[in-house]
Amino acid sequence: MTVQGEGPSLGRRCAFLRLGGCNLSCRWCDTPYTWDWTGRSDTGVAHDPGKELRAVPWREVYEELRAFAVPLVVVSGGEPLNQQKRLLPLVRALRADGCLVEIETNGTVAPSAELIRLGVRFNVSPKLAHAGDPATRRLVPDALRALAEVPGTAFKFVCRGTADLDEVAEIERRYGTSPVWIMPEGRTADDVERRLSALGDETVARGWNLTTRLHVAVWGDRRGV
Ligand code: SF4
Repeated sequence: MTVQGEGPSLGRRCAFLRLGGCNLSCRWCDTPYTWDWTGRSDTGVAHDPGKELRAVPWREVYEELRAFAVPLVVVSGGEPLNQQKRLLPLVRALRADGCLVEIETNGTVAPSAELIRLGVRFNVSPKLAHAGDPATRRLVPDALRALAEVPGTAFKFVCRGTADLDEVAEIERRYGTSPVWIMPEGRTADDVERRLSALGDETVARGWNLTTRLHVAVWGDRRGV
C-alpha cells in the first residue's frame, strides 16, 4: 500500500500493481527493472527477467489488492496496456466492488472499448524527445486521440525544464492531449524540487496543471515491495 505520487489523484491512498514489459525504452526510466534486460537505460544495468517477472493468476492479484482495503488501485508498468486483455477480469472485479482503477500508460496503445466502459481513469504520459526513442515510437496519433476522448483522462508530461514546454504544446495542439499536467523529471527529492520550481510559473501561465512526484519526496528512489 502507498499513495498515488503523481497527477490528478496525488496523495490518495492506493494499492499499486506493477506490470512488466514496455514497448519504449526511455533513457531516464525510473522502473528499468520492468523492461530493461540489456542495460539500455541511463543506469546501464541489465535486469534479469527471470528474477523480475512472474505470472500470477488474476484472482490471486485481486485478492492481494483487495486485502489492502483501499478505494483506489493504480496499475502501472512497464506499459500495462500491452496486457490489457489479461487485465480485463481483474479490472471488472475491482470495479464491481466500487474500487477506482487508474492505469498509467505511455499513450502508445489504444485502450479497448471494454476497458473504457468499465470507467478506468487513464493517466497518459506521452514521452518527449529527451526520453530518447524516435518520435514514431513515442507518439502514436490514433492511440493518443483515442485516449483523449475517454472522460477523465489526464496527460502527464515529464519535463526537465521550461525548454520542454513548447514540445508539450505542440503535442497538445496536434493530438488534443488535454488536460495537461506538467511533472518534473527526477529520481531524487532535490532534482524534483529544483525542476518543479523552475517549471511552476510557466506551467500555470500556459493554463496547465502541475504535479510533483510525491513518492520521490517521501521515499526517494527506494523501490517499493
Ligand atoms: S514508457 Fe514508462 S516504463 Fe516504459 S521505458 Fe518509458 S518511463 Fe519506463
